[in-house]
Formats: sequence, structure tokens, C-alpha cells
Amino acid sequence: MKAGAHSHFLQIEAASKVLWYECGLGHPRVPDSDILAALHTEEAAVASFTRMRWAHGPYCLVCGRFSDLHEFQDGTGRFSCASCKGRFTIRKNTIFEDSRLPLNKWFFAMQLFIQGITLPHAEEALHCTKPTVSLLFRKIEEAARLGTLYRTGKK
Ligand SMILES: [Zn+2]
Repeated sequence: MKAGAHSHFLQIEAASKVLWYECGLGHPRVPDSDILAALHTEEAAVASFTRMRWAHGPYCLVCGRFSDLHEFQDGTGRFSCASCKGRFTIRKNTIFEDSRLPLNKWFFAMQLFIQGITLPHAEEALHCTKPTVSLLFRKIEEAARLGTLYRTGKK
């Protein structure tokens, strides 16, 4: 590996740790059991991301107000706001927003990406097709380069 390529890899590695933190999993106090749960069940993945995103209290991702939010009990992080009547999911304004893949699969892909796992191995581990894994890795790499999972700098 050339020196330039190596430093590029280190940059991506450092940046993807920021993404991992934004998923709610990168904090040193998060126990391994919570990380495992978030990789294997959608409910735990959504809960982890929701806690991180609303670390300072829940607010509406449509109107921005701290208001009465109703959570739909389908385990996907779907909410409605009593103030603006808006509906949104906790994925709003993130790289996950337009994806139908469960969050835990995204988190799993992110972990494999951080570990430098190759695409064919990631396909196997994720039980996803080659185009899906390529897309996931491309989006994660792009987010790592920008240093955030969020699209407009909004948190
Ligand atoms: Zn609202």
C-alpha cells in the first residue's frame, strides 16, 4: 500500500468512528451487549439511534419544536407531532432516510465497513445481494468522507 492510500484509509477509519458514535454505539460506555443487540434486532437499533439523536430530549423533526410526539408502536421509529401534525421517522435527514433496509442491517454493514471487510465477505455476512452491499458501502463511505450521517448538518 502506498503512503497516500494508507493515510486515506486512516482518514476513512477515523471518520467512520464518528458515524458509529452517531448511531449511538461508539461511546465507550455502551456495553458490547447493547452493540450486539443493535446489530441483531431492529428494535434495539432504532432505540439506540433514537437515544443518540435525541440526547437532549425529543423534538419534532418536521417543525423543530419540543412538542408532544406520538410514537407508532411498530418498532420502526415512526412519530407524529401534536403541534404541526407532521409525521416522520427517526431516520429523517440521514443517509438511512430513503432506504427500506432495516437499521440494524445498516449498522451491521457499517461495522463491516469499519473493519475493512471486503465486499464479497460483506455480502455473505449480511445476506444481501452484491448491488445492495455496494450501495450500502458507497453511502457509508460518502458519509465517512463528509464526517456525518446527517444530510444537511441538522441533528
Ligand atoms: Zn412538528
